[in-house]
Amino acid sequence: MNKQPLGVLARTLAATAALTAFGLAGSAHAQQGQPLDFAKLEMKTTKLADNLYVVEAAPGVGNVVFLNGPDGILMVDSMFPQLHDKLVAAIRATGATGPIRYIINTHLHGDHTAGNGLFAKDGTVVIAQDNVRQRMLAKKPDGTPAFPPANVPMVTYATTMTLHFDGEDIEISHPPAAHTDGDSIVYFKKANVMQVGDLPASLRFNNIGVDDGGSVDGMIADGKLVMKMANAQTKIVPGHLGPVVGFKEITIQDTMFQTVRDRIAKMIKEGKTLDQAIAAEPTKDFNEGRLSGNITPARWVTLIYTDLSRRMKK
Ligand SMILES: [Zn+2]
Ligand SMILES: [Zn+2]
Repeated sequence: MNKQPLGVLARTLAATAALTAFGLAGSAHAQQGQPLDFAKLEMKTTKLADNLYVVEAAPGVGNVVFLNGPDGILMVDSMFPQLHDKLVAAIRATGATGPIRYIINTHLHGDHTAGNGLFAKDGTVVIAQDNVRQRMLAKKPDGTPAFPPANVPMVTYATTMTLHFDGEDIEISHPPAAHTDGDSIVYFKKANVMQVGDLPASLRFNNIGVDDGGSVDGMIADGKLVMKMANAQTKIVPGHLGPVVGFKEITIQDTMFQTVRDRIAKMIKEGKTLDQAIAAEPTKDFNEGRLSGNITPARWVTLIYTDLSRRMKK
């Protein structure tokens, strides 16, 4: 897998995303990692503030934050359709009985959006940044939709949007392209809880959506931006793992991103190939302490090499 040329990697990722997004497989690979056995996954719910919770299923499944109150329920991201019933049961288990009125998607990837359709069918309004909708409406080369039409957000925004719901002010903002070009940061201002999707926050090798407008430099910039928008007390919920991190984790990620980025940029300048860059193990001194995730060091190097070599050619 490490030696795949980019085209093959991109196609594998696209095929995997399509498979999981359409929910065709009983078990699926989320972002090319360990297979997810949906039947075996259990939901774990953590309380973040009054009526605000985060639900986790597995490292390869996007964390879901939800707010409950007199206006109903608002969720951030929607996991996979195979987990729909378990996710709803986890929400109801907290005593939340109202309608699920909104889902805010942090970005387009299937591990965060594939569950949208089943909620939308019951009347939930799905919200995301403009580029999420644009990319989800795109057609694959064979003319079929890139994502199931039922999962496409129906309300979009360009730069910022605020929802006033359940007595909370929920500020949604679009940072410069990082993980993708449709990322949203969702800030529950009163509770001081922020869901940052797949921006670098948890201590893992993050996926970088190099074919979805994302870039390693964007990831580095947005890690810093999150620390400007938040404060030291903010409970920061990453898209995976955590479920809560702070500036310490983001700072560690930032150091890793910058160091590995510079090492790979140097190798590209020296004319090293992708295989040579992988063999040089530029993440070696950061491997220890990385949490389990779907991105191996070799794959992470591939993503950064791909992104940088495209940009450095220009
Ligand atoms: Zn994700
Ligand atoms: Zn993602």
